[in-house]
Amino acid sequence: MEKIKMTHPIVEMDGDEMTRVLWAMIKEELLQPFVELNTEYYDLGLRHRDETDDRVTREAAEAIKRHHVGVKCATITPNKQRVEEYSLHQMWKSPNGTIRSILDGTVFRAPIMVSRVSPVVKTWKKPITIARHAYGDVYKNVEFRVPCAGKAELLFTDTEGKELYRETVHDFKGAGVLQGLHNRDESIISFARSCFAYGLSTHQDVWFSTKDTISKQYDQTFKILMQQVFDEEYAEQYAKAGLTYFYTLIDDAVARVIRSEGGFVWACKNYDGDVMSDMVSTAFGSLAMMTSVLVSPDGNYEYEAAHGTVTRHWYRYQESDRMTSTNPVATIFAWSGALRKRGELDGNDALCAFADRLEKATLDTIESGVMTKDLAALAEGDDVVSVDSAAFIRAIREKL
Ligand code: NAP
Ligand code: MG
Repeated sequence: MEKIKMTHPIVEMDGDEMTRVLWAMIKEELLQPFVELNTEYYDLGLRHRDETDDRVTREAAEAIKRHHVGVKCATITPNKQRVEEYSLHQMWKSPNGTIRSILDGTVFRAPIMVSRVSPVVKTWKKPITIARHAYGDVYKNVEFRVPCAGKAELLFTDTEGKELYRETVHDFKGAGVLQGLHNRDESIISFARSCFAYGLSTHQDVWFSTKDTISKQYDQTFKILMQQVFDEEYAEQYAKAGLTYFYTLIDDAVARVIRSEGGFVWACKNYDGDVMSDMVSTAFGSLAMMTSVLVSPDGNYEYEAAHGTVTRHWYRYQESDRMTSTNPVATIFAWSGALRKRGELDGNDALCAFADRLEKATLDTIESGVMTKDLAALAEGDDVVSVDSAAFIRAIREKL
């Protein structure tokens, strides 16, 4: 066949360990035979980040701003042990954190469903996508132990030095604990835009939940700003598309999510998103079947798998020199997501169709009973064959 052409590039960010191995195999077996891949390549592997003083990560993020679509392999976020293992100059920050702060985006996580693995929650028929507001609240808090009796106050001084608010938090009679939280209108508004844009582009309703009955200023501000962005910028488009925005209290939302069929975007405050995304991904089956996309309010998209570099498999692979049975599905879907978005932005129907076929070939392979070990452990049916990553990818290629 003639290879599918790409008019504009995708920003390709290579990564670490087992996922780096899968990355090369996916390109060689599933992409390059069919598509004339046009990518701007950045090596975010830990060694190269260290060699460039992490400049490569910032350059990759800037490139996403220029080209609007990126695809990223999982990367190591170094800790003390990694600094020794790789003899690093510094304990470099999380690449995902760096990219997110440059693009100012929201992360959407959605499970990939296969009929052979039923969600723990029987009513769930469609994926539930969690959007997490990844700024502020308890993740940027100030807190300390209160050592003795005394008064704790909340005080705000404007830039002129004028005291605008002072309020007693608590009159302590003895030791205790104290915490200060904040958020910014700008960040909440940009979160709202990302959520509504994503709902529209994936044709799904958007739910949002807080505890505004208890938090009459803090959570109420989230509720008001979300509604304002929706009314002013999205209500008309949602009505036209037959979609809705639904607000409810967080505890009511949890109850409704469990009873729902799925098929919507659940926008969450930072902590709720942290907790709920782990619950939802586990209930849908496996972290290896979870995709993740960072969407910025000005329309940049970065696709990746939700899991990490699968270090335990990597060590085993290096020791034995034998292919492991590591699940490449989320990484394949990161590529198909990026290719489809590229196709949509460029009006390249052939590229969009290829992305659809790649996903279908992947799912059909699993439905036919061929899958990696992690899925085989969860799958229903007595015709399940557990294979290593290379055999699994070859089986997908045959279908493709
Ligand atoms: P992980 O790589 O997600 O793996 C944790 C465990 O989950 C694995 O040991 C494996 O379980 C299972 N697993 C995850 N993905 C799988 C897949 N595709 N196929 C089969 N099993 C899979 O998390 P981690 O071990 O905590 O972190 C490893 C490294 O990844 C760390 O250096 C961390 O910084 C980095 N990380 C990067 C990202 C990112 O780039 N977005 C996200 C998270 C973590 P079994 O061993 O039981 O088979
Ligand atoms: Mg978490």
